[in-house]
Amino acid sequence: MRVVLLGPPGAGKGTQAQIIAGRLGVPAISTGDIFRANVSGQTELGRQAKVFMDAGDLVPDEITVAMVSDRLAEPDAKAGFLLDGFPRTIAQAEQLRESLTELGQTLTCVLELVVDEEELVRRLSGRVVIVDGKPVQREDDKPETVRHRLEVYHRQTEPLSGWYAEEGLLARIDAIGEIDEVTGRAMDALAAADTDDPKG
Ligand code: AMP
Repeated sequence: MRVVLLGPPGAGKGTQAQIIAGRLGVPAISTGDIFRANVSGQTELGRQAKVFMDAGDLVPDEITVAMVSDRLAEPDAKAGFLLDGFPRTIAQAEQLRESLTELGQTLTCVLELVVDEEELVRRLSGRVVIVDGKPVQREDDKPETVRHRLEVYHRQTEPLSGWYAEEGLLARIDAIGEIDEVTGRAMDALAAADTDDPKG
């Protein structure tokens, strides 16, 4: 299965990506996690990405697309993958479609996690992550950056929902509720999409 997880910041993509990928037996590929690992490792890629991430902006397409193409070429992604946080622009989606076509592959499903704005702001402002054993707030979860990230989502990423709907790939699920309830809805939507897929 080749799945894209779509949804605004705070929708629970990271959490669901790990669980769903585990159930499907495919790698969860999170562009945000790859960028953060590069920032921590102080690589050249991390240095380039950090400025955009701290501001709550998207890292430019050419940097992101090259990174994802390399990742998808790794052996563990051959039999399937779940992309978390990519694509985030129409240009990235077009590039992804091209890369997959070259590999003779297509997406099975684009799963959109739907959460209302009020709940997103509430979740993001209260979110803590564990770094070196200590709970800290992500730099880009500060209230003013959260607002900006949501604007960026509406402007640059939300149009992907319509784009993938036109391709007949979109499944939208309600992402409010207990984690396992949301996983259950996601697995049902993926099972339905897999049956629809002519290539199986
Ligand atoms: P996330 O962990 O998915 O919320 O991503 C954190 C940050 O990484 C985003 O706010 C962006 O700055 C950057 N990022 C992650 N994925 C992408 C992407 N597909 N395109 C551009 N920037 C991204």
